[in-house]
Amino acid sequence: LRDRLLARQARRESSARTYARTLPVVPVRAEGAVVTGADGRSYLDCLSGAGTLALGHNHPRVVAALREVIDSGAPLHTLDMITPEKDAFTGELLGRLPGTLRDDARLHFCGPAGTDAVEAALKLAQDATGRRGVVAFTGAYHGMTLGASAVSGPRRMRDTPGADAVPVTRLPYPYDYRCPFGVGSRQSARLSAALLESLITDPGSGVAPPAAVILEVVQGEGGVVEGPDAWLREVRRITAEHGIVLIVDEVQTGVGRTGRFWACERAGVTPDVLVASKAVGGGLPLALIAYRPALDTWRPGRHTGTFRGNTLAMAAGRVTLRTVAEEQLALRAEALGERIRAGLRRIGAGRPSFGDVRGRGLMIGVELVDPDGPPDRLGTPPGDPALAAALRAACLEEGLMLELGGRDDTVLRLLPPLVLTDDQADSVLERIEAALRRTET
Ligand code: PMP
Repeated sequence: LRDRLLARQARRESSARTYARTLPVVPVRAEGAVVTGADGRSYLDCLSGAGTLALGHNHPRVVAALREVIDSGAPLHTLDMITPEKDAFTGELLGRLPGTLRDDARLHFCGPAGTDAVEAALKLAQDATGRRGVVAFTGAYHGMTLGASAVSGPRRMRDTPGADAVPVTRLPYPYDYRCPFGVGSRQSARLSAALLESLITDPGSGVAPPAAVILEVVQGEGGVVEGPDAWLREVRRITAEHGIVLIVDEVQTGVGRTGRFWACERAGVTPDVLVASKAVGGGLPLALIAYRPALDTWRPGRHTGTFRGNTLAMAAGRVTLRTVAEEQLALRAEALGERIRAGLRRIGAGRPSFGDVRGRGLMIGVELVDPDGPPDRLGTPPGDPALAAALRAACLEEGLMLELGGRDDTVLRLLPPLVLTDDQADSVLERIEAALRRTET
């Protein structure tokens, strides 16, 4: 069945297929962190639907909530008309938002992808300020629509015709392992913030003043790169002082994954606009922005779309938000993340190809390097995309699904569900070590 379906898909679907090529599994059943393929093999899932499945596959509370909606005869889709289920989701979400947004934010439902919520955030900032420019960061990933591509880091995304409709200034993201300023992390956070301040306050810079700054607290697709708390606080101070809208994209970091309900909470920073998707819909398509009420200057219909009111997504999202909070899964993510990173460091000891093990909570990355390659100016060896790809394939052989990220796909990325057990975490490590041995022979 597996080979038949993969072959038929290759004939019927686009050549832009990605996961289907890198993870040639035909999933037929799934529970928690385990996916079973059509070939009868089980895999530990460290992809979790690209981070959407905070509670893992088919969590009983999510399944029960979905059944309840279906059995109740409620309408499944109502655009942006209010329903009791949507009202319940909204209340649950508002009560979990960070800082001053809690209980007091305005929500705009987008839909149904993260990229659409990024578009909405950019438009809102432009409308509210009357300005157009946006400051974004190297290594960023905000989505595939034109505006979101424009504010993303990789050149292949920005070079899309039309992506220049948003005037973007790109600043270096403080990336500890490959410091863009050629100095250590603490210094680089200060320099990145100082650069931002000087550019947006200097009328001659061509940047001043932008409508918005958009950033990820931890870059996911960019290779699991953490922005230091001090940097985030400085960016918050600067944007607040100059009336610039701070958009924090928590599409991947949100809902407990990084050890806090929202990643920005660790630095004590509240954005003007928070972008949420992925886990916020409990595995069903849902995306939204939550923002300061003062920004709510939109005329009706300024940003619409058909799919923003899916009752099933609201129900799955509501129980996911509640379960993550009630079961303190953010703390669990933090502890599990530490356990896995410690294990990865043990595995990496004596293996110079393990350039860097990093991450926050259950966003985990291993940057793979070629120790014999020409080092950069800080003496850091180059990434090793061939090893990373070989390791991903070997992990799959060992029954572990994970993905790559980073500039040249040299970072092994783990995004397991927050309900991963300790035994499963240890098994993830064993499988990675076994996969490494395969690549070493
Ligand atoms: N922002 C971030 C931080 C993301 O990680 C992603 C998806 N990986 C997106 C936006 C885009 O979301 P979507 O794929 O649902 O459009």
